[in-house]
Amino acid sequence: MKVAVFSTKAYDRQFLEAANSVSTEGSSAHQYPHELVFFEPRLNRDTAILAAGFPAVCVFVHDQVDAPTLELLASRGTRLVVLRCAGFNNVDLQAAADLGITVVRVPAYSPYGVAEHAVGLILCLNRKIHRAHNRVREGNFSIDGLLGFNLHERTVGIVGTGKIGLILGQIMKGFGCHILAYDVYRNPELETLGGKYVELPELFAKSDIISLHCPLTPETHHLINAEAIKQIKSGVMLINTSRGALIDTQAVIEGLKSGKIGYLGVDVYEQESELFFEDLSGEIIQDDIFQRLTTFPNVLITGHQAFFTAEALHNIAETTFANIADVEQGRSCPNEIRAQPETGAKVLVR
Ligand code: NAD
Repeated sequence: MKVAVFSTKAYDRQFLEAANSVSTEGSSAHQYPHELVFFEPRLNRDTAILAAGFPAVCVFVHDQVDAPTLELLASRGTRLVVLRCAGFNNVDLQAAADLGITVVRVPAYSPYGVAEHAVGLILCLNRKIHRAHNRVREGNFSIDGLLGFNLHERTVGIVGTGKIGLILGQIMKGFGCHILAYDVYRNPELETLGGKYVELPELFAKSDIISLHCPLTPETHHLINAEAIKQIKSGVMLINTSRGALIDTQAVIEGLKSGKIGYLGVDVYEQESELFFEDLSGEIIQDDIFQRLTTFPNVLITGHQAFFTAEALHNIAETTFANIADVEQGRSCPNEIRAQPETGAKVLVR
């Protein structure tokens, strides 16, 4: 199929071209190669024209697949939106359905990578490795101010115990931590591990480390707000590798200033689409909230890289092409996502 690939970086092209060139003759699931045309810009109302005549567009987390963009795509022949990511909060699924556009995604590509990155943030913040590295490079070998704590016997509260949350629980269990969990559905594997499900207020009150692994939905928007911060243990470490808007950043800044939040490690940020994935090192950043965050010594920010492992990019490429092949050949695609008919809300139909 002819596919317009938006938001292309060199690494996307490398892994997509490699997967597209693999000969899978004899496999009914795959019929490659597809005809890929790579575009650097993000997909939005202004760039949708680039996809004229392409039956499929392939997009990532910051492409704006809203109703006007979908209308422009549909009017020029696009029938398939292929997400090369898991989250789909940037797609208007109802508009896609109304226009007869199928939407598919990659539901899981690096749960280990994301969980391991969360652990990286925890270890770095706790032992202040980012600060120690800078000191040693400058010939400052003082360890004053670098005091950490043992993870052993500490309590980790995991919000969202799906694929990534469970793996984080497994890893932290290995450190000798106690695991508390909150989810709208219980994961028996987490309980087998010794994790205990509690309500959110109890998780907030008892956890030394809180790590967020639920999707961004209307229910989870600003899950960590001023009210939640009142309930948390003083000096808590807060980790967010899921979606930026799970956190009310302004409220968290107040929590950091008062010392109620002792550490913050984030790979995602509510307004990240203005910043992340671009080299802005020569620019004046206009986002004052983000800039304030970067001033705290106990805040560690990475630019949405938790997923970014070789295994993940390989898996994304493979699943993306399998999804396209399913749709192209009229098979039901297990990774299709649709709007819930009665509410228009975003749900996965398996
Ligand atoms: P998953 O679907 O396997 O698990 C999500 C869990 O959240 C499920 O168990 C679900 O029941 C739970 N949940 C849903 N609503 C909830 C609520 N209101 N309160 C508490 N729990 C709720 O997803 P996953 O693969 O583990 O991914 C988790 C999140 O990680 C994704 O939603 C995505 O936003 C994020 N993610 C980030 C990166 C990155 O690079 N930073 C990469 C992949 C995924």
